[in-house]
Amino acid sequence: MVPKTTLHTLKDILDRGTSGDGLSKDELVTLLSLDCETDVVEPVFEAAREAARRFSSNRGRIWASIGVDYQPCPLNCRFCSFGQKWEIVTSASAWPDEKVVERSVQFAQQGAHWITLRTTQDYGVSRLCELGLSVRRELPSKVKLAANTGEFDDAGAQQLFEAGFNTVYHAFRLREGIDTGINPAERLHTLEVIARSPLELTYLVEPVGPEHSTEELADEILRALSFKATGAGAMARVPVPGTPLANRGRVADRALALLIAASRLAGGPSVTDICVHPPSPEALRAGANILVVETGAIPRDRKEEKSAWQQFTIHAALEMLYMEGYDV
Ligand code: SF4
Repeated sequence: MVPKTTLHTLKDILDRGTSGDGLSKDELVTLLSLDCETDVVEPVFEAAREAARRFSSNRGRIWASIGVDYQPCPLNCRFCSFGQKWEIVTSASAWPDEKVVERSVQFAQQGAHWITLRTTQDYGVSRLCELGLSVRRELPSKVKLAANTGEFDDAGAQQLFEAGFNTVYHAFRLREGIDTGINPAERLHTLEVIARSPLELTYLVEPVGPEHSTEELADEILRALSFKATGAGAMARVPVPGTPLANRGRVADRALALLIAASRLAGGPSVTDICVHPPSPEALRAGANILVVETGAIPRDRKEEKSAWQQFTIHAALEMLYMEGYDV
């Protein structure tokens, strides 16, 4: 039984979220503290789904991501298969440009709305821009091009924009500098660079594990909004055997869906797209409208993916969106 005062508070929070007024940290913590194994979260999911109809015009979209290069990475983030210390990826390799272009065109023809080129820091912004130009030339203009790479400065952001990138994926990860080897100040600096550039920002709360507190999650939702992200949402940590955090397990789908609902309600009309990864029908029901299809080098796996990660193809993504009532 939920106390009456909590129900009143909850109704107020949901009204604010669906009207696009945004949510405070306390309100986010209230939402995220609900028991996601009970029906009490159902009105939250419904309100967030309604907000998705309103703020995303009910459009379901696909973000197709190509992991361009493998590189044993000295930063050794404790969840990432590329970490040098975990000895999963032991040699460097990269897809040739022609293969990246060919796969990008295929994804676009199959119905992807974004093509994301994901590279390690070592690949370099200049080389990524050359690749971006080659891909952009072959893509229909309605398909957006996104970059997911390491840190860069204002000149790098301008270079990416001029090469035809519309969007950058960048996130201040949960427990950055503790579970990651990245200097948090450098990460924040790149987010500031993106916020003042012509590039759009997509920023998911990630990589979410069962151990993260409601306060930590609320802080990251609000941080994404503070950097003017137009794409937000959440990504669960995938326990990769051999990485130090694998034994902490994976967050439950319903808890991830609650985080998605909170992100949708906090984002309001300026965050048109809310993404969940890995895919989950429950999260779509809770207001996510973007699904990710991946290929190539994947930090959530021990091996290169030649086709679609976990057999989740563009066709499967379109079907899942359609089944949850999105226009595709
Ligand atoms: S998440 Fe990025 S920075 Fe961290 S180990 Fe993996 S590739 Fe390196």
